[in-house]
Amino acid sequence: MTATETPVHGLLIDGEWRQGAGVLERRNPARPSELVARVATAGPDDVRAAYDAAAAAAPGWRRTPPPKRGEILFAAAALLAQRVDAIGEELSREEGKTLAEGRGEVARAVQILRWFAGEASQPLGDVLPSAGATTFVWSERAPLGVVCVITPWNFPVAIPIWKIAPALAFGNTVVWKPSELTPLCAVRVAQVLTEAGLPPGVLNVVHGLPSEIGDAVTGDERIAALTFTGSTATGRRIQRAVVGRGVKVQLELGGKNPVIVLDDADLEQAVEQTLRGAMMSSGQKCTATSRALVLPGIRDAFAQRLIDRVGALRVGDPLLERTQIGPLVSEGQRDRVVSYLDVAAQEGHELAVGGRDAAPDGDGWFVAPTVYRDVDPASRLGQEEVFGPVLGLIAVDSLEQAVEVANGTQYGLSASIFTRDIARAFAFVREVEAGMVHVNSETAGAEPQVPFGGSKASSSGSREQGKAAVAFFTETKTVYLDMPSS
Ligand code: NAD
Repeated sequence: MTATETPVHGLLIDGEWRQGAGVLERRNPARPSELVARVATAGPDDVRAAYDAAAAAAPGWRRTPPPKRGEILFAAAALLAQRVDAIGEELSREEGKTLAEGRGEVARAVQILRWFAGEASQPLGDVLPSAGATTFVWSERAPLGVVCVITPWNFPVAIPIWKIAPALAFGNTVVWKPSELTPLCAVRVAQVLTEAGLPPGVLNVVHGLPSEIGDAVTGDERIAALTFTGSTATGRRIQRAVVGRGVKVQLELGGKNPVIVLDDADLEQAVEQTLRGAMMSSGQKCTATSRALVLPGIRDAFAQRLIDRVGALRVGDPLLERTQIGPLVSEGQRDRVVSYLDVAAQEGHELAVGGRDAAPDGDGWFVAPTVYRDVDPASRLGQEEVFGPVLGLIAVDSLEQAVEVANGTQYGLSASIFTRDIARAFAFVREVEAGMVHVNSETAGAEPQVPFGGSKASSSGSREQGKAAVAFFTETKTVYLDMPSS
């Protein structure tokens, strides 16, 4: 099939798949000559139509009994569960993570959908004591209205689901702008939800480049709340643009996540978990490990074992079962990560494995898994989010110094410690500035029932998933009820 014969997936507006102002082509990052999908792009008028539809659908959806909303989400979960292999493979083709990671992500999205489907039937309020003898007081959680959802490309199925599912379960309608780098995954997510029985207008999807539709997506006066996951710079810009209008905002942003390896750590566990945290998904995770802070007693053994393991990782076509590390998502991301390898060279960090010249041959957007030793924590490599398979080893002399270095960036998403000493693990938990803390496991990880999010520049301070989602996607309505006096 030639490019022009490949069908164009539409925008989802008011329950219809519509053509738009243009067409976006998405190519396989492992083989850029291979077309993965063609998707319609929205113009500002299409975005307005999406908000018209979301606003018109809001009263009906808000009045839909919550267990009925949950039934639709359970049906969507069942459909997605049937499509784990197919969508997982498309995800791998479109985003570049390995087949196992792609299928794993879709399977995780099924769990998230099921969890929020169940949440739709959970209690959403309290009965409160009143000073009035005949007054009955309760609080309940009411939907907000129209929610704008903006998502990145690195978890193109799971992150949209963990925003859209609670938004819908708690009675809001949605306009969703997915990443322009993963539009096919967005189409698949929207298909599952509409086929499950979502009424027209409750979920609307607008594809396109931020330069063309960004202002229309964030500028609509009818937005009650906006949830964004992406880079810190973009998130902060969007926040500035909407808070003046009273829009409730949730931002999940970048990270520079540290692991601390103490002398008494289980060496094998510390190496394997650090390797996974730093290199899986080609390091393109907000919770990826990018700094390993290692104490003297274990430093050489840890470095040697880790470097050997990183050097043995199989990089290549993510659709091959044997591949452990796929390409980066795009030429732009590849160039950005390579520019950090140049920064590392200029800053004089010692290259231990990988580097600019170690990428496999071929025309895909590959970067070899790379480790630097003796990284200066104050350097750019020690401070800035790289978002690729690049790890810096930093020498520290004590737990106190390790915590100081761990806390010494603008970010605070996740952090890990490897130790057998429970007292030192607790001291780390208490002192580290991070929204998510791990003891003896990698910095990445998220379960649907557990709050997810960061401190400092990694977040707007709110949390996603679990009960935290109720706090964001609803507002409290307090009710005082008194009986008529006669
Ligand atoms: P990005 O900020 O470039 O884009 C995120 C989304 O915002 C995309 O859909 C993009 O099209 C859209 N966007 C960009 N400018 C916009 C504008 N002006 N108006 C409206 N929409 C706009 O981020 P990305 O490259 O897609 O993702 C990578 C980043 O995401 C990394 O920094 C990573 O750390 C972060 N991330 C954070 C988390 C978390 O939960 N903390 C999770 C995943 C990714």
